[in-house]
Amino acid sequence: MSTEKINLLNLTRDGMVEFFKELDEKPFRAIQVLKWIHQFGVEDFDEMTNISKACRAKLQELAEIKGPEIVSVQESADGTIKWALHIPGGQAIETVFIPDGKRGTLCVSSQVGCALECSFCSTGYQGFNRNLSTAEIIGQVWLAARHLNGLHKSDDRAITNVVMMGMGEPLANYEPVVNAMQLMMEDNAYGLSKRRVTLSTSGMVPQLKRLIDDIDVALAISLHAPNDDLRDVLVPINKKYPIAELMPAIHHYLERSNAARKVTIEYVMLKGVNDTLEHAKQLHHLLKNTPCKINLIPFNPFPQSNYQTSSQQDIHKFGEYLIKRGFVVVVRRTRGDDIDAACGQLAGKINDKTKRQVRREYDKREFYKEIVVNDLTNS
Ligand code: SAH
Ligand code: SF4
Repeated sequence: MSTEKINLLNLTRDGMVEFFKELDEKPFRAIQVLKWIHQFGVEDFDEMTNISKACRAKLQELAEIKGPEIVSVQESADGTIKWALHIPGGQAIETVFIPDGKRGTLCVSSQVGCALECSFCSTGYQGFNRNLSTAEIIGQVWLAARHLNGLHKSDDRAITNVVMMGMGEPLANYEPVVNAMQLMMEDNAYGLSKRRVTLSTSGMVPQLKRLIDDIDVALAISLHAPNDDLRDVLVPINKKYPIAELMPAIHHYLERSNAARKVTIEYVMLKGVNDTLEHAKQLHHLLKNTPCKINLIPFNPFPQSNYQTSSQQDIHKFGEYLIKRGFVVVVRRTRGDDIDAACGQLAGKINDKTKRQVRREYDKREFYKEIVVNDLTNS
């Protein structure tokens, strides 16, 4: 028999009930423990005062409540908080809390790095190491809630929304992400409404097609380009699942979802790349039959990036064009600038298994060779 203790943060409500059944305990005990962990942030079984001593002893022996370890916490002048969390294997991921009036949004990571290589994204640039477990995903919410409650005992620091927009592609880590989102919405855990939990994806079509059979949450799509030629470059997963396959998958989800009456279309504004009126026109045609809200995200530069942010004027013109044609358009404010907490800047500390950095150097060499060859043939 394995001596490894089971981490209760890995269990959904059903998983917890099942586990208590194996312990010969009643289902309502499982619910009590779920509440202790997620609603009261308890990690010591001895604090669970309505659980019998005998049951606590069994739990002590077989189970544990083990959240991620905090490496550092940074708080921005605007109230944004960023946690760097240690992940076994010598890695770190990041979680960000963004207060905005009565709303408090937690931006949660789903993977250590990301394998998808979007050309404007710092996480993509870092490479990929591994998927996070359910415990490591919900553990971010658990830890942030404990920290926020301890820091400020007032409601204005409560987590009211969660967005899967931290490091990683959530649909590439399907089951743990679905389990963790179930706990976010579970009445005996965080009890968030399904409209306040958002999954953001770069468009993994097969997983998106099955998602609504497993869970109903709000949906955001990282579109970033209105045509395949450009999207192939910015979001390379598009080569596998082009726009003509992505759009029906979005419609399939919207038709069956109660949480998502509209899809949020994320569109990063890259100067001279995807921000002209011609692009706005193409976007209008692409989205005219899709209930959506368009979120224009000013590009957040990072040291190795070659792109520039669109000018405010160009973002304004782009947005106006779409608003005049009946779209709801929002320009995302950049938050936590002084602590690098904005979208796409979350870098963590990744032991890259894809050897992406090495490959990049190699690609560069090949590229130069090609130029030299071309020069010779042209002369
Ligand atoms: N992998 C998922 C979720 C994480 S990224 C996805 O791609 O949707 C969250 C959002 O930040 C996505 O819309 C992503 O495209 C955007 N993003 C990534 N890098 C960015 C950058 N440098 N500036 C602005 N937005 C960025
Ligand atoms: Fe991965 Fe999303 Fe970054 Fe693309 S934008 S590399 S899918 S985290």
